[in-house]
Amino acid sequence: MKVITTIEELRTARAALPQGQTLGFVPTMGYLHAGHISLVELARRECDLVAVSIFVNPTQFGPKEDFSRYPRDTEHDLAMLKEAGVSWVFMPGVEEIYPPGFSTYVQVREVTNRLEGEMRPGHFEGVATVVAKLFNLVQPHRAYFGQKDAQQVVVIKKMVLDLNFPLEIRVGETLREPDGLAMSSRNVYLNPEERQAALVLSRALTAARELWGQGEHRGTTLLEAMFSTLAAEPLARPDYVSVANPTTLEELNDSGDAEEALASLAVRIGNTRLIDNVLLKRET
Ligand code: AMP
Repeated sequence: MKVITTIEELRTARAALPQGQTLGFVPTMGYLHAGHISLVELARRECDLVAVSIFVNPTQFGPKEDFSRYPRDTEHDLAMLKEAGVSWVFMPGVEEIYPPGFSTYVQVREVTNRLEGEMRPGHFEGVATVVAKLFNLVQPHRAYFGQKDAQQVVVIKKMVLDLNFPLEIRVGETLREPDGLAMSSRNVYLNPEERQAALVLSRALTAARELWGQGEHRGTTLLEAMFSTLAAEPLARPDYVSVANPTTLEELNDSGDAEEALASLAVRIGNTRLIDNVLLKRET
């Protein structure tokens, strides 16, 4: 496994990739868990070589967010990636990606106006900018993202379409702890009481999924089920709760004729902000 810290080294490695070999790419912010590794494994099944980036991207954090205290453990990350059969790890410093005077940003409109984008102004501009740069540097054939960050997938797919990036976006399902909590690097912030309270996110999504399975496809009713589940947990403070069209992210209406929906939520448990979602589809 080659550990690369500079753009120059990365370009050299990329240029030496033999013709006909396919390259898969998994961008991450490190502090890796089994969810990240599941994306690596998917990439390994579909590509000859896999590159992973570890970069805590400052431009996607708001001024009051957790950039400086975001958890890091490079040694453990590298051991996990080696074990998973990764070929290249790109771990640039902040100045390598954002040298002094950096002033070009990628803005995806419309789908960034809602949900995470609405709550975290500038977040997706930071995400789109760093992912565009990483795509230009790594030049993968396929790039892998987790459904855990559902809106991120929508935004990146739109950017790839609009800016003609010559690669395919692949999406891996959300990995969960045995009790249902979606795996996240931020789960480490939770104390034992909060860890228990955090189960309310997956419980709220399960409530929506069960109703959906019973034929309830009206937005308001599904939302109410999620809100009433959340209300039973005193430590939970919802940032948003949504049942939306998975492509446009527009909230579902009450006609009951939606074919599919994305139920998603962001909830603060103590000082930790957690997100989760589930895709709801009609049985065929
Ligand atoms: P992050 O390091 O949080 O930026 O995540 C890097 C990638 O891993 C993103 O595409 C995430 O959506 C994905 N990811 C994070 N958590 C999970 C999970 N529990 N299951 C699957 N993928 C995940």
